[in-house]
Amino acid sequence: MIKIALDGPSGAGKSTVAKAIAKKLSIVYVDTGALYRSIGLFINRLGIDKTDKENIIGQLKNISLSLEYKDGVQSVILNGEDVSGLIRTGEIAMYASAVSAIPEVRAFLLDTQRDIARKNSVIMDGRDIGTVILPDAEVKIFMVASPEARAKRRYLEFIEKGESCTYESVLKDIVERDKNDSTRKVAPAIPAEDAVFLDNSDLDIEGTVNKAIEIISSKVNLEGLI
Ligand code: C5P
Repeated sequence: MIKIALDGPSGAGKSTVAKAIAKKLSIVYVDTGALYRSIGLFINRLGIDKTDKENIIGQLKNISLSLEYKDGVQSVILNGEDVSGLIRTGEIAMYASAVSAIPEVRAFLLDTQRDIARKNSVIMDGRDIGTVILPDAEVKIFMVASPEARAKRRYLEFIEKGESCTYESVLKDIVERDKNDSTRKVAPAIPAEDAVFLDNSDLDIEGTVNKAIEIISSKVNLEGLI
């Protein structure tokens, strides 16, 4: 079993790269952001303010979350409903960022994440995988790109999906989420001491995947896997 932790800020391309690597190595890709987004969606649907910590903590007992995999594709199930298609909006991302700063929310999601890695070889994408969730991961990569490069990618993604936004508003949200995620008291999005940095500001997807495979094969023996 291998555990690969892939952390880094929003829009660094972690999910695209993790999916490609999971396919190459025939291991499970775990998108942990989907769990925080689903809690964000639940809170948003109830009309609870995203800064109302007490109310959010009080709602956790009403939330049941699990991840399911079919042909390598992850679905996130919130109280029996597949919400995978509903959590990828800018609004829910901001809710996810807000709820993820609450220690009780992080504790609530800890076992779900660790359980998957106990049962499967995984590449897990998030913010605190190398530091908190899987501190014993064989490989830890911290993927970064400039805020402008990340905003450009996200902007193009949103436009392709038909969401109306401007590059400036996406950049502003990214800078705000970076600040929230890296300065929060619990599990800030910072690299583990033994993480390897991968800056892909000037790399395309293929270049980033190749670089990541290089890092992984320097830590574990991939013979027979690729
Ligand atoms: O990765 P994604 O953009 O889907 O994550 C949404 C939000 O969830 C992030 O901005 C971050 O605040 C939070 N998150 C987290 N820890 C993780 C994954 C996501 O705090 N492991």
